[in-house]
Amino acid sequence: MLDTLGNLKRTNYCGSLRASDAGKDVVLMGWVHRRRDLGQLIFIDLRDRAGIAQIVFNADHPEAHAKAEDLRSEFVVAVEGKVILRQKPNPDIPTGEVEVVATKLHVLNNSKTPPFQIEDEVTASEETRLRYRYLDLRRPKLHHNIELRHRIIFEIRKVLDELGFFEIETPILTRSTPEGARDCLVPSRIHHGQFYALPQSPQIFKQILMISGMDRYFQICRCFRDEDFRADRQLEFTQLDLEMSFPRQQDIFDVIERVMEAACGVIGVKIQRPFRHLDYKEALRRFGSDKPDMRFGMELHNVTEHFEPARAALHFEGNVQAIVAPGAAAWSRKQLDELSEFAKSAGARGVYIVKVTSETVSSPLEKNLGADGLKKLVAAVGAKPGDLIVAVAAKEQIPHTDTSLFAACQVRLYLGDKLNQIDRTKWEFAWLTGFALFEWSETEKRWVSAQHPFTGVYEEDLDKLETAPWECRSKGYDLVLNGNELGSGSIRIHRQDVQARMFKALGLSDEQAKRRFGFFLDALTYGTPPHGGIALGLDRVAMILAGEKSIREVIAFPKTTAAVDLMAESPSEVDPEQLDELGIAIKT
Ligand code: ASP
Repeated sequence: MLDTLGNLKRTNYCGSLRASDAGKDVVLMGWVHRRRDLGQLIFIDLRDRAGIAQIVFNADHPEAHAKAEDLRSEFVVAVEGKVILRQKPNPDIPTGEVEVVATKLHVLNNSKTPPFQIEDEVTASEETRLRYRYLDLRRPKLHHNIELRHRIIFEIRKVLDELGFFEIETPILTRSTPEGARDCLVPSRIHHGQFYALPQSPQIFKQILMISGMDRYFQICRCFRDEDFRADRQLEFTQLDLEMSFPRQQDIFDVIERVMEAACGVIGVKIQRPFRHLDYKEALRRFGSDKPDMRFGMELHNVTEHFEPARAALHFEGNVQAIVAPGAAAWSRKQLDELSEFAKSAGARGVYIVKVTSETVSSPLEKNLGADGLKKLVAAVGAKPGDLIVAVAAKEQIPHTDTSLFAACQVRLYLGDKLNQIDRTKWEFAWLTGFALFEWSETEKRWVSAQHPFTGVYEEDLDKLETAPWECRSKGYDLVLNGNELGSGSIRIHRQDVQARMFKALGLSDEQAKRRFGFFLDALTYGTPPHGGIALGLDRVAMILAGEKSIREVIAFPKTTAAVDLMAESPSEVDPEQLDELGIAIKT
């Protein structure tokens, strides 16, 4: 027989009890985490959002004691009792100095045996965890992550309110926004054959809000991009999206630096402002990446000229990048084999290594480069005794791209990690600028926007839009933290004539531009202020601040890498009547 909650009122969270509560009568409510039955004494660890409290049932309260005999894991109960100091405190839990002697037990609900223990050290597969997400979310770690996410968003809202931003919602059922991904489409029941697109971002709406004179907009918004999944991508994700009128680039940076300062403050991290600025090409050259991890050195050296004599014998194409790995001259055969395997998986042809010791410089490359060539290489990269020089060339070449950099970037991160070079207490933010406006798409065989088609272009480069698009410099910027891209934005195009030329440069005919963006081109003609903005990936921000490796750990109901919600079992088939109403037939 289950008891009812009736008029019973909780007095405390289980996890909040401390020694100072000793002597108080309390009413606690929560889940039976664990039960230990010693006959005369029954102990329950009672769990709620705030943590765990130990409850004791003894012979002084026979009715409660008898009921406690039937308790099982995850039963939902209310306990009335008195807080006392424990004889033997448990230093491992925050409530460890006290326990509650139960006078009454109310069993509010029972539970099936859960498929896994509600504990941080969970052995169940991620699939099982996601299928039973409501149980998974009961784990303290996930409670912590979800609370942290809430606090970050709360702080961000406070800062932006202080800075005069309005939070404004934009439509979810809308039309395609070009952010370079596939759209998620929603068929219209009223207009058969017509579709809404879910926003890839609120980009056009936020720009229109600037035309509307709103001056400063932000939104914690959901965006939808139907892309192939990666560990830190979901079909739907949350952005902090913002836009300002009349901004200089630095004004936008200042706002975001304040936002990140507040967000990091949630975990007690004090960050350095202003963030450093780095030219995109410099980042590529030094770190092989447009999202460099600058918590450690080990920068890349372009050593192509030193490898030139070996080009034919080693059969490599393109450039060769080298990294000096401090102390790795002593690496074993096995460690070197693992490095080579990793480098191959990162797109390198393999690794070329040179060991530098106090006596010698040795390398399998000696036969190709000669002893003198090796010495010059060592000098060029500044390797010291004990160091290992690791050089890579790319397996495949892509036009207009130095692919050796991408492989080298991965190898640098691998070596930095293995050699404990990465200072995990550092928060290295950087603004990346100096991007090109267009990039060449091999699949489409045309120039496409490197970011999105509303990104501003340097006035001096306007004339090259039609003649030399590859030389046009973008007014875009990215924010990077510890090797992660947190977000990107730009000063926008605010002149209608320039926006129209941009669409043309992207290969859209007047007719196509009018059909897709006519309303926006029109809006631009009615007094558009100069404006700019940015969007940050909030899932990623929360993931980093929570110290997690996957954004699924900071999203309450994430999807798998195959875009499936295992708990709600979506996507799913729908009734034929629903399809009929929408005027849709499924191709078989
Ligand atoms: N709309 C862009 C994005 O979602 C951000 C921006 O340019 O503000 O990536």
